[in-house]
Amino acid sequence: MNDDLRAHLEFFAELGIDGVRLEPEWRARGSEPTEPTEPAESAEPTASAAPTRISLQLIKDDMGADCSRCKLHTLGRTQVVFGVGNPDADLMFVGEAPGGDEDIQGEPFVGRAGQLLTKIIEAIGLKREDVYIANVIKCRPPGNRNPEPDEVEQCAPFLFRQIDTVKPKVIVALGKFAAQCLLRTNDPITRIRGREFKYRDAILMPTYHPAYLLRTPSAKREVWEDMKRVRAILAGDD
Ligand code: URA
Repeated sequence: MNDDLRAHLEFFAELGIDGVRLEPEWRARGSEPTEPTEPAESAEPTASAAPTRISLQLIKDDMGADCSRCKLHTLGRTQVVFGVGNPDADLMFVGEAPGGDEDIQGEPFVGRAGQLLTKIIEAIGLKREDVYIANVIKCRPPGNRNPEPDEVEQCAPFLFRQIDTVKPKVIVALGKFAAQCLLRTNDPITRIRGREFKYRDAILMPTYHPAYLLRTPSAKREVWEDMKRVRAILAGDD
């Protein structure tokens, strides 16, 4: 069994899933396709992605590498963690704020929760480079505390500009904080998780944060249900 397949089956086992899909595209998503396949729509930078890439860079420049709009710049952040991924992604993930690993590496979701997010992305047949990933807050709050209202007020407009530039079809809000912030609601995540909301020009689906899944592995089953729905919307099966 190759490593790719083993990793998938292990993840599915963790999720409590006891079967795999038999469709050809699912089998072909391994590292060594045995039959000629269509070029993957993904990772490779395309000419059409160039204007979006430039627009995202303009937003990043506008924010500035040493952004001082809120107090987080005085509270020990190493760097601004802007966002990463395919500028023309159909699928965007929004988290809360960078943690320690993200603060050091300058990229969202690269720590343990990020590694689980990467597995979740791969479980629906995509690669991490296919999607766009950003946070509501671009700087690490001290001790990973929750972002405070003044920090959100200053920082969230940059996320809104990222969303309006990437124009994803689907936004997955990871966890209570991102979901409540984007939807401007105080509803608990247990109530809004798995539901589809019209948001700007996208469908927004709140789901559990991968850090929560690390603490509560049984909740992976619900995230898998949400991600299957996301996959269906992206495939146009809605
Ligand atoms: N948690 C988040 O919400 N975002 C990250 O980038 C990492 C962990």
